[in-house]
Amino acid sequence: MSKTVFQKICDGEIPAAIVYEDDLVVAFKDLHPQAPVHVLIVPRKPVARIATAGTEDQALLGHLVLKAAEVARRLGLEQGYRLVINNGPHGGETVPHLHCHLLGGRPLAWPPG
Ligand code: AMP
Repeated sequence: MSKTVFQKICDGEIPAAIVYEDDLVVAFKDLHPQAPVHVLIVPRKPVARIATAGTEDQALLGHLVLKAAEVARRLGLEQGYRLVINNGPHGGETVPHLHCHLLGGRPLAWPPG
């Protein structure tokens, strides 16, 4: 299987504006930001989407969400923020490598489009 763009970022093969990384996850700025702060937090493990994650990924997913909150704190989003995981065509998923959007820096409307 060919690597996704996010796998290539995790492997250092293409550049990204990385704001946090550890042995399990990488967080980098979205190329087309939808808010003043728009960061993607991705697992290094190439899980395609949340629907295909398994029980063996439980700790990884917990780590990913907690790191998203840590990145939000580091980026000064005291007023709040939103974490989003798009899944499948109706969810708006365009990259088949699990990622959590961190959006903040302005009030966000609800419901989303
Ligand atoms: P989704 O639609 O949930 O699959 O989100 C994919 C996101 O990846 C979109 O917000 C894109 O703007 C973003 N994206 C695609 N390629 C890159 C890239 N090379 N670096 C950073 N963000 C990217």
